[in-house]
Amino acid sequence: MTQLKKYDPEVATLVAAEARRQQNTIDLIPSENIVSRAVRETLGSELTNKYSEGYAHKRYYAGNRVIDDIELLAIERAKKVFGLGKEWSVNVQALSGSPANMAVYFALLKPGDKVMGMSLSFGGHLTHGASVNFSGKLFTMIPYGVDRKGYLDYAAIRELAVKEKPRMIIAGATAYSRVIDFEKFGAIAREVGAYLMVDMAHIAGLVAVGAHPSPFPHADVVTTTTHKTLRGPRGALIFSRNDRVLRAGEKEISLSQAIDKAVFPGLQGGPHDNQTAAIAVALKEAMTPTFKKYGRQIVKNADVLASALQKHGIEIVSGGTDNHLMLIDLTKLGISGREAQDRLEEAGIVVNRNTIPYDTRSPFDPSGIRIGTPSVTTRGMKEKEMREIARMISGVLMKADIKSTKKAVAGLCARFPIA
Ligand SMILES: *Cc1c(COP(=O)(O)O)cnc(C)c1O
Repeated sequence: MTQLKKYDPEVATLVAAEARRQQNTIDLIPSENIVSRAVRETLGSELTNKYSEGYAHKRYYAGNRVIDDIELLAIERAKKVFGLGKEWSVNVQALSGSPANMAVYFALLKPGDKVMGMSLSFGGHLTHGASVNFSGKLFTMIPYGVDRKGYLDYAAIRELAVKEKPRMIIAGATAYSRVIDFEKFGAIAREVGAYLMVDMAHIAGLVAVGAHPSPFPHADVVTTTTHKTLRGPRGALIFSRNDRVLRAGEKEISLSQAIDKAVFPGLQGGPHDNQTAAIAVALKEAMTPTFKKYGRQIVKNADVLASALQKHGIEIVSGGTDNHLMLIDLTKLGISGREAQDRLEEAGIVVNRNTIPYDTRSPFDPSGIRIGTPSVTTRGMKEKEMREIARMISGVLMKADIKSTKKAVAGLCARFPIA
């Protein structure tokens, strides 16, 4: 970054400090990852200079021939990664996961419509109906949760859907460690005449490699961020069925047409073309055997980490994990989520505090922390290192052993540098 250093040493110093922080800490935040140099080069390319409102071959600005090719390539690769046929369309322009979800709601729903989504306090995302979010303000949200053991209860979800008759059901989560049965969600949605939207933001990379069942055979719409397990730049993809028409619309248009219109001109102006190209690069990476191994290793690592933590006497919600993340229940250790997060950060382990199902504490200082393996797996860590990390976490949480843990963290980070 020679130009930046010369022109703006203040920002250059901050960027370098953040790079150093990432290099020297163990990142267990399950929504974070480390992108390749190729993705970062694309993000920093000349593409950031262009305006390209509209869609390929239908732009409102001149000079978009190259951008058209880039956007079409991103779309083609997105379909290939998830093995989709011609009945699926993809919109690659949503700027991130939340605006992607917003576009779907605006396309398929009218303000006030009933929508069922997983409650934030049980592991759903803000955009699945939280009262502080646009989703909770504009639509009538019917929240569902998990049972006492920490599992989705499909019979209860069905019963609620039959009673409430929502126009759309959202399946997907930010803090749920078990397989989500999209087939069951699909059957419930069909039974009550609702659209099924799957938000696979957290697990997209696992779906891509077959480490989690695919939502595509069951959903009308699938949204995802591109920057979590999929390991791309920040951004989002919206997949939708172009062979299904919008119900109760004034005109008969397909779900895909409605969603494209909702993204632009409904919600956004120009797409971020550098981001679209970087998504295309990440999708090429996601098709490689290396990525397939990576995705499977994420799950193996999480499984080993969960078992090792339990062996140290640390409680995991639902007793384990099927995917890339888990929730630690701190209740019996007598410390709060906030305290655990702060202590671990002091030792160089970065996690986020999180509510656990049926939490009795406040979301600001809840009873749990959420941890995941996408980032450490990208650094090349395997089962052995997961056991090491479990030891460190247990040392910090159970014995407040920060000083020696800090040393161990530094050693582990040095052995697995960020490329
Ligand atoms: C992360 C996430 C989002 C939102 O993504 P942003 O890019 O942070 O807006 C939406 N849904 C789910 C399930 C997520 O995990």
